Amino acid sequence: MITLAALATDRHVIVSHGELIEIGGSFRLPDVIAAGGAGMRAVGTTNRTRIADYENAIDDWSAVLLKVHPSNYHVAGFAESVPLPELVALGTKHDLPVVHDIGSGLLFPAEQLGFPASEPDAQTSIGAGADLVLFSGDKLLGGPQAGIIVGRAELIDRIEKHPLMRAVRVDKLLLAALSVTLQTNRDPVAAGRSLPILQLARTSVESLRQRAGLLVKRWATCSSSVESINIVETEALYGGGTLPGRTLPSIAIDLTPSPPLTDDALARRLRLAEPGIWAQIHQGAVRIDLRTVFPDEDDTLGAIVEQVLSARNT
Ligand SMILES: *Cc1c(COP(=O)(O)O)cnc(C)c1O
Repeated sequence: MITLAALATDRHVIVSHGELIEIGGSFRLPDVIAAGGAGMRAVGTTNRTRIADYENAIDDWSAVLLKVHPSNYHVAGFAESVPLPELVALGTKHDLPVVHDIGSGLLFPAEQLGFPASEPDAQTSIGAGADLVLFSGDKLLGGPQAGIIVGRAELIDRIEKHPLMRAVRVDKLLLAALSVTLQTNRDPVAAGRSLPILQLARTSVESLRQRAGLLVKRWATCSSSVESINIVETEALYGGGTLPGRTLPSIAIDLTPSPPLTDDALARRLRLAEPGIWAQIHQGAVRIDLRTVFPDEDDTLGAIVEQVLSARNT
């Protein structure tokens, strides 16, 4: 909003129909553009937008070419969108800034971080010539909730001097937290090791399987309330709807309760334990996906499940 207020008030933002996202709550792109005081020129269609669609929309009112990463849905099938470098070339030709809202905010290419999913990242977007890149401070970056704007100093300067800036600025506690996150993120290798989401995503299936084996061995002796305990191969999902349709191979442990104990009742007991364990329910079994568990939590998980399974009050 502040970016568009500074660069496009009373002028037009050109954006693809296919990228008019809602993130949730009050973040709906058309509303954000309106709140920034800009007009929206939506081009192309929901599934296909070409560079000519953007070019045909450029006129004296145009102020910004906006590209938005559809971070929480994806269009499959007969679909086409314009890659950033093409949009940058168009922006250069018509002297219009290109703003890239990448959403989740990886700083480095996913493969450098060892992140097993393709996601846009700030470094690649800047390298491809985006004038400004916008992303979230939390989500994949793992820091405090904040909107981060990087890019050409002259544009950042205009944003900084906008009267609205004071209303949306962040305070020093948030800056302190963000600076720690950014320091951790300076180097892609270190970031890949230390960020919790990346740690979980990078864990190999083999090591999950090995840990599952140890837990199952531990629980085997206290299994009067379960009919079976099985190690299963499964697909884990990223949380919060941030990477729709992307799954990661994983290993889970299925606890199938003995009647009269039901899956719901067993799951409830796990939730009410201290600390609580939130498991899935899958075809009559309570499923614990080990990709959601840090290795140093195995012991606590082991003890809680042991305690719940050994409780006699069915
Ligand atoms: C999440 C998201 C935002 C908003 O990010 P905050 O976490 O609210 O800072 C903006 N644009 C896109 C594309 C997003 O995915």
